[in-house]
Amino acid sequence: MDLDPNILEVLRSPRRALEVSVPTRMDDGTVRVFQGYRVHHNTSRGPSKGGIRYHPAVSMDEVKALAMWMTWKCAVVNIPYGGAKGGVIVDPGELSVEELQRMTRRFAYELLPLIGPEKDIPAPDLGTNAQVMAWIMDTYSTREGYSVPSVVTGKPVAIGGSAGRVLATARGVMYTTLATLKHLGRSVEEARVVVQGFGNVGAGTVELLHEAGCRIVGVSDVRGGVYNPDGLTPQGLKDREADTGSLVGFEGGESVTNEELLELDCDVLIPAAIEGQLTAVNADRIKASVIVEAANGPTTPEADEIFQDRGVLVVPDILANSGGVTVSYFEWVQALQAFYWTEDEVNERLRTIMERAYVDVLAESEQRKVPMRTAATILGVNRVAEAHRTRGLYP
Ligand code: NAD
Repeated sequence: MDLDPNILEVLRSPRRALEVSVPTRMDDGTVRVFQGYRVHHNTSRGPSKGGIRYHPAVSMDEVKALAMWMTWKCAVVNIPYGGAKGGVIVDPGELSVEELQRMTRRFAYELLPLIGPEKDIPAPDLGTNAQVMAWIMDTYSTREGYSVPSVVTGKPVAIGGSAGRVLATARGVMYTTLATLKHLGRSVEEARVVVQGFGNVGAGTVELLHEAGCRIVGVSDVRGGVYNPDGLTPQGLKDREADTGSLVGFEGGESVTNEELLELDCDVLIPAAIEGQLTAVNADRIKASVIVEAANGPTTPEADEIFQDRGVLVVPDILANSGGVTVSYFEWVQALQAFYWTEDEVNERLRTIMERAYVDVLAESEQRKVPMRTAATILGVNRVAEAHRTRGLYP
């Protein structure tokens, strides 16, 4: 991409990183200190945006890498944000709700020098949710003396969350899947789809693609999955999940393991669970001709090369799952204006942005004769580089 080496030099390091200690009073009266981080990778295109993760494996390096990933993702969908990420080394499942609230509020307080509606807007990630965002919003607002709903996204609707946010990532996955089928001249009705993961993104994707006319032939969660070549119905799967906490044993299909699920006979495979699922070990056995990455990082670089050699089309995560950050952007815009949109308005604007991004990445890929992942990264990096070049280097 002929990136100016001086710009590469700037973009390869995060702009700023904050490490904080988060002293928290536990329910038994003792005090524990948790380590927390917030990193701004780049802010050339606007305030930085990115989730906060609560997980025992959080580290500064991981947070830095994820912040950079956010910079490219926001640029690919062309929303006016830079990239950020944050995290605390903690297993949130081990804390009581009260402990989690105290830890979150103290962490938010320690982040005050970095966060704010014009500076950096956190969102949920692994181990955090709408309630955690509500506590951060309240802590920030308490300091300001008035409500500041635009300081975080992914909030509950009751305090300024956006309609359509819950299904936004899945809806984006649906738009990119339909765009891919259209690009390949394939019929939606004949597309047999397998989805790995039945959480927020996976279950939503199953529901929306089924509604769009695709045949869902396989679905799994962490414990295993089900397969039915004639098609599975989302409602039956949801009921099974609600009744037993898992899809395992669902009567509408044959049981499969997660390994078998990925290798099922289908047209479109949508990994929507965790990273590192498609590897050098199984890439040769994947039968799908299209992979839409709903999860972050489900394909290893080795598997990516195998898919490229085999002509399997991989729609990369920074494009396919960017519906969530796009509706987060809408949530921020609505909160800043104190003017809220209907769910139809949100979905329609999301569709416009996702389809535009898809066309941009495809054009880049065809023009440069590179896979979509490379094309998306080039597109993102170029947009950030252009903003940086146009603004100039201070001083
Ligand atoms: P979630 O926790 O709601 O759901 C995860 C699902 O994956 C669950 O059904 C779980 O049982 C399953 N799972 C976990 N480990 C598994 C394993 N080893 N094998 C098979 N299945 C497994 O999470 P989510 O919010 O749906 O996120 C899923 C992926 O999408 C993650 O990679 C996340 O980073 C990415 N993502 C999410 C959003 C969002 O808005 N939620 C946005 C962008 C990207």
